[in-house]
Amino acid sequence: MSFEVKILGSNSATPAHNRNQTSQLLTIGNEHFLIDCGEGTQIQLIRFRTKFHKISHVFISHLHGDHYLGLMGLLLTMHLQHRTEELHIMGPGGLDEIITTQLRYAHTTLNFKVHFTQLQDDKEYLIYESSGLTVHSFPLVHRIACTGFLFREKPKERRMNKLKLLPEMTGEEIGQLKKGLDIYKPDGSLKYRSFEFTLPPRRSRSYAYCSDTRYEPGLIRYIKNVDLLYHESTFLKEHEKRAAETYHSTAEQAALMAKEANAGGLVLGHFSVRYKELSPLLDEARRVFNNTRLAQEGQAIKVEE
Ligand SMILES: [Zn+2]
Ligand SMILES: [Zn+2]
Repeated sequence: MSFEVKILGSNSATPAHNRNQTSQLLTIGNEHFLIDCGEGTQIQLIRFRTKFHKISHVFISHLHGDHYLGLMGLLLTMHLQHRTEELHIMGPGGLDEIITTQLRYAHTTLNFKVHFTQLQDDKEYLIYESSGLTVHSFPLVHRIACTGFLFREKPKERRMNKLKLLPEMTGEEIGQLKKGLDIYKPDGSLKYRSFEFTLPPRRSRSYAYCSDTRYEPGLIRYIKNVDLLYHESTFLKEHEKRAAETYHSTAEQAALMAKEANAGGLVLGHFSVRYKELSPLLDEARRVFNNTRLAQEGQAIKVEE
């Protein structure tokens, strides 16, 4: 099953050096989530040939323009392209008012229903759950209310060992064996032992999105052992003071978070417009946490099972 992050935008503040403002498309199986929606996100979604009409949920980390100003344009394109499926938008308080005000003054009623959920920024909690995964939001430390998101697959069933599958097994029996349950005959004697016919489940994968935030080791508890961590790295270490003042992080600090959280891999993003060349940010992070990469637009980052 797919588990893939597509980078749509990687810059902070303004578009520069062919980099757009922050947005990512996360695909887990057949669920599609948009994470942040900087200006021009719909153009990126089209440019990279994504199936953006399949997005069911949009998660907005905070109301700085580089993270949400593309939302109105995307909603109107979905409307003009005759979307009818409901859309869920989860973000800070005020986002629903911003969107509905713009629609009201345009005398536009969308073809599809939009459900707004106001996220709380003072605790970690479950904000979405489906049969295969959970999404939690957790507080970040920024100038305004800002949340991160943790996407985690639920524990998976055991897999049938095809070499041991018997033709007389019923679908119901196979279902039970995959759940790890043994099958008994009516007289109470053992018929099939789950462990003899099945293989261990595949790994449950996870992805954490740490949007704009000051370096804060206290956040590590929310992202412990995550497979893939995205963490903003607006600045180089030489601008650490500026990072702290503006509630942002350096590449080294992002790497420290990945290391302390025991993450599998790290993606750096939200680059300051002052850096045309990004390799110094990558080098700085890799000195602390080797399995680091830069968010590059159009790139799909897969997490293997
Ligand atoms: Zn930002
Ligand atoms: Zn911000």
